[in-house]
Amino acid sequence: MLDKVRDLQQQIEQYTITSPEQLEQFRMRFISRKGVITELFEQLKLVPPTDRRAVGQELNALKNAAQTRFEQFSQLVDEQQTVAGNAPPLDLTLPTLPNLTGTQHPLSLVRQRIIQIFERIGFNVADGPEIESDWYNFGALNFPDNHPARDMQDTFFIEKAADGGTDMLLRTHTSNVQIRLMERQSPPIRSIMPGRVYRNETISARAHCLFHQVEGIYIDRNVGFKDLKDTLYHFVKELFEPGTQIRFRPSYFPFTEPSAEIDISCQICGGKGCNICKYSGWVEIAGSGMVDPQVIANCGIDPEEYTGFAFGMGIERITQLKYVVNDLRLYTENDVRFLRQFEGL
Ligand SMILES: [Zn+2]
Repeated sequence: MLDKVRDLQQQIEQYTITSPEQLEQFRMRFISRKGVITELFEQLKLVPPTDRRAVGQELNALKNAAQTRFEQFSQLVDEQQTVAGNAPPLDLTLPTLPNLTGTQHPLSLVRQRIIQIFERIGFNVADGPEIESDWYNFGALNFPDNHPARDMQDTFFIEKAADGGTDMLLRTHTSNVQIRLMERQSPPIRSIMPGRVYRNETISARAHCLFHQVEGIYIDRNVGFKDLKDTLYHFVKELFEPGTQIRFRPSYFPFTEPSAEIDISCQICGGKGCNICKYSGWVEIAGSGMVDPQVIANCGIDPEEYTGFAFGMGIERITQLKYVVNDLRLYTENDVRFLRQFEGL
């Protein structure tokens, strides 16, 4: 019995291993429950009781030696596999690979947020064509024939009509949807119209040939300037940081009278003055006003009976103020380093 043990001890010491298959052979022969060492442990009861203790100790030493050798061989085989460029050994303690699920575009985030705010106070969402006739983009909105916005340098014309025909163009604002809505729906009308608009501009950090707007309109009996102010105060309070100041500044648009531009206290410097607000402490976010009675009449609604307000803002502008994005080109370059900053928002 002792001879067998010593013989095995020698075998284990002299064993060499160069492949995973040989490692498995070693394990089967010396470590597994069907191996030679387990067999010897079973034969231990046949050994005379006086020798049993000594033989048992030798057997335990043999078992430990086999185990140690097996661990050394395993490590060796793992290292060989790594060097050979095979799959590294499985390490369950490593952190998992990040699961990149993509993000919402910042303009989509802000657009959705704006829609959400207005939907909660009863505005629905309206849509209309991006290719539009001169009438819906300009004429119905009181733009005079010689208005500079109709200039080739501001508007992308698709088709310049011969005398008496209609010019077709890419809409320069989403106001065309307001006109179409008023034509086909009788008051009360309470809608917002988010969408893409086009201007013939050279692309730079501060200008782009396409951008996004959200306009809104509310037409009903007895709608006054107070309703306009209430609605936009609510909007600013919901969208921007608490404590944001708001002011209305008299302005002029062909389609509203009176008209006002809406400024909020600068989100970047908190009103102290910085280069975003040109050191005034205020930034413009929207144009607004009471819809001109002529525009209401142009759509077949009686301006004596109905009044209303309208407003419009650029989604890029709001996004710039909310997330401090200072180059308009970033929105269309699809640089994932930029887009990933909006993960989880
Ligand atoms: Zn500022």
